[in-house]
Amino acid sequence: MSIEATMLQRCESKCELCGADAPLTAYAVPPHGHVTVDYGIMVCDKCLGEIEDPKDINHWRCLSDSMWSQVVPVQVTAWRQLTRLNSESWAQDALDMMYMEEETKNWAMQGMSADDKPFDVNGAELKKGDDVTVIKDLPIKGSTQVIKQGTVIRGIALTDDPKLISGKVNGGQSMYVIAEYCRKK
Ligand SMILES: [Zn+2]
Repeated sequence: MSIEATMLQRCESKCELCGADAPLTAYAVPPHGHVTVDYGIMVCDKCLGEIEDPKDINHWRCLSDSMWSQVVPVQVTAWRQLTRLNSESWAQDALDMMYMEEETKNWAMQGMSADDKPFDVNGAELKKGDDVTVIKDLPIKGSTQVIKQGTVIRGIALTDDPKLISGKVNGGQSMYVIAEYCRKK
């Protein structure tokens, strides 16, 4: 049986996250790039859209059911989405109840750390208030100026985008800088 056929049988042709009886796509749960029965889940378009570009917080209330799935990649995906929403009390409550094997939790967290936190060129996590050195000349968007290599940015702030930090360059205006072009001091 093909991978997809095996997965369709596993999920009984319903979305493994929200249970929708809708056309399904096989989704490889990161960091895995290819769908296999162990690393993939079958999801509807709505769930796939919310994973890739979250818009509708309340859609994920369905996870309080699917987090009990025996399917490991479903658990991983449910945990990640709930963790993203943990400022919502219902999501935090669900997380508190959720149980995962340690190996599963490690997989789930692995994806999150790469997703949610900025890392410098050496892979060190950058935190609010850190001082960083810019490691190469960076053009400033919409300007002919550059942020020179070696420029120190003190007391950085984090942004909504984990790839970007922000900070005042040379005591001037605050700018966005790509985290991996910085080195933590
Ligand atoms: Zn769904």
